[in-house]
Amino acid sequence: MKQPVITIDGPAGAGKSTVSRTLAKRLNLVYLDTGAMYRAVALQATRENIPFSDGNALYMMCENIDIHFKANGDKSAIFIDNDDVSAQIRMAEMDMLSSSVSAVPEVRKAMTALQRKIGEKGGIVAEGRDMGTVVFPDADFKFFVTASPEVRAKRRYDERKARNEDIDINNVEADIRKRDEQDQSRKLAPLKPADDAILIDTSGMEIERVIEVILGHIKGDHL
Ligand code: C5P
Repeated sequence: MKQPVITIDGPAGAGKSTVSRTLAKRLNLVYLDTGAMYRAVALQATRENIPFSDGNALYMMCENIDIHFKANGDKSAIFIDNDDVSAQIRMAEMDMLSSSVSAVPEVRKAMTALQRKIGEKGGIVAEGRDMGTVVFPDADFKFFVTASPEVRAKRRYDERKARNEDIDINNVEADIRKRDEQDQSRKLAPLKPADDAILIDTSGMEIERVIEVILGHIKGDHL
């Protein structure tokens, strides 16, 4: 029997990553973090000084590097060739850069193909912005998780504070709003729920409750 494909889309800071990672672990599925892939592309383009206006050069770059994941205990590390870039892609400047590079059609073409290849046998929880709409339109279960910009900014702020970053919550919220706007308004694969996605507003919810609700839908008894 084919293993399920579960998609979890939504804006930055909605709790997608924790929910997707936990869900994958509980259901014994592979966790696919597609935001990390766009972040890796942005990082590599910066290293190679490729302007984001040069779609062909970005496509060649994507074809020439090997972006892949490796399980690392409870976490999953992302590699560009043999280089573990898991920490670098989380640098704050990669937030907007990944959003900008992900609007380039040639980059989306390369990443969509890679994501479909990773998911072709099923058995994945795929997290991103266009998993349910574009990459896996026939997914078995589609969720769109969101939360108010204030709540999302607070979550991002707490995450970054925990990593000892020197940040201001107002800047975090402004960045989140700017990135949402950019992700929602791009022509190709904009951030939006699939018509058949189940919407979950996680604003007042603990992560554990979000997971319960999702598992409830998957198991058929809507909690
Ligand atoms: O999820 P994360 O914040 O790591 O994603 C970084 C950026 O990558 C997003 O702002 C978005 O522009 C882009 N992205 C995308 N499609 C996806 C996943 C991420 O365009 N499926």
